[in-house]
Amino acid sequence: KGENFEACGGSRIMVFVRLRPMGKKERENGSRCCVKVLNKRDVYLTEFTNDNDYLRLKRLRVRHFTFDSSFPETTTQREVYSTTTGDLLEAVLEGRNGSVFCYGATGAGKTYTMLGTMENPGVMVLAIKDLFAKVRERSLDGNHTVHLSYLEVYNETVRDLLSPGRPLILREDKQGIVAAGLTQYRAYSTDEVMALLQRGNQNRTTEPTRCNETSSRSHAILQVVVEYKTRDGSKNIISRVGKLSLIDLAGSERAIATDQRTLRSLEGANINRSLLALSSCINALVEGKKHIPYRNSKLTQLLKDSLGGLCNTVMIANISPSNHSFGETQNTLHWADRAK
Ligand code: ADP
Ligand code: MG
Repeated sequence: KGENFEACGGSRIMVFVRLRPMGKKERENGSRCCVKVLNKRDVYLTEFTNDNDYLRLKRLRVRHFTFDSSFPETTTQREVYSTTTGDLLEAVLEGRNGSVFCYGATGAGKTYTMLGTMENPGVMVLAIKDLFAKVRERSLDGNHTVHLSYLEVYNETVRDLLSPGRPLILREDKQGIVAAGLTQYRAYSTDEVMALLQRGNQNRTTEPTRCNETSSRSHAILQVVVEYKTRDGSKNIISRVGKLSLIDLAGSERAIATDQRTLRSLEGANINRSLLALSSCINALVEGKKHIPYRNSKLTQLLKDSLGGLCNTVMIANISPSNHSFGETQNTLHWADRAK
C-alpha cells in the first residue's frame, strides 16, 4: 500500500556536528563559549550557572558526545563538503539515492552550511561543482544529464522555489511520490547555479512580522537528479538515475513550541509535524524497523525514496558556541546522538 517495507540494507545514518564561530554581535553582548570540539570527533558541552560563574570558571557540568566527525569552528566549507557529501555523490553517479540534512536551531549555521555565500559556497554549490567535474571525466562512455529542483515545505505546504506560485500537490506514481508541476531545471554548468539557488532561497516564505528574513519555519530541499544513458553491445539503451537531496531544515527550536492559541503556533505545530515525522523515520531506520512512517508529513513523503532502503543518509547538526544558546545546543546534540 505504498509504504516502504524494504530492509534498510545495513545502511546507517552518518551523523556530523558543525560548530560555527562566535559572531560579532555575540562577542559584543558578552557571550561566552560553551562548546569545544577536539580530535575531529569529540564535542564537549559545558554548562555554567551564569556569566559570573563562567568568569570564575565554575562549571556546573561537562557533557561529552562523539560523532562520525565533528567540525570545529575553523573548518572550511570544502572540508565539510568532502567529509559529509563527497562519497554520497559517487553513489548518486552509480544510480543510487542519498540525502544530506542540516539540523539545528535558527542561527546555528544551517543555511551557511548548505548554501553558503558567494565567497564561501556551501554543500549545495560544492556538490554541483563536484558533480559537473565528475560528469566531465566520465562522459566519454555515455551521456549524463543533470536536473535541479528546489522546493520548500512551509506550514505543510509545498512550493516551487525556482518558479514561485501556487502550492504544489504531491502525487504518487510509478516513480514514487512526486510534486506535480515542479520545475526540473536542466543545468549545464556550475556558474549559473549559485545565482539560481540564491534567488530560490530569497523565495522562501518570510515571517509576516520580519519581511526581510527567510523564515525559520521553512524547510528548503534541493534535489539533484543525475541520469546516465548509454548503449550496450546490442545497441539497447541502458539508463540509470540517481538522486541527491540536500535539505536546509526549519529551525529545530520550533519543535518544542507549545502555545496552541495563535496562528503562529499552528504553523509551529506543522513544522513540528515535519520535524517530528523526520525524527520518527530516522529513529525507525536506525533501529532497523520494518515499517518507516513516511506518510506522516510532506517532508518525509517527499524524501521517501532518499531515506533508508538502498540509500545513504547524512545528518549535519549545526550548533552555536554561545552560552546563550546552551539549551538549543544541548537539544541538538541529544537529537544527533539518537540518530547515530
Ligand atoms: P541558520 O540557517 O541555521 O538559521 P545561518 O546559516 O543563517 O543560520 O547562520 C547564522 C549567521 O552565522 C549568519 O550570519 C552566517 O553567515 C553565520 N555563520 C554560520 N556558520 C558560519 C561559519 N561556519 N562561518 C562563518 N559564519 C557562519
Ligand atoms: Mg537558515
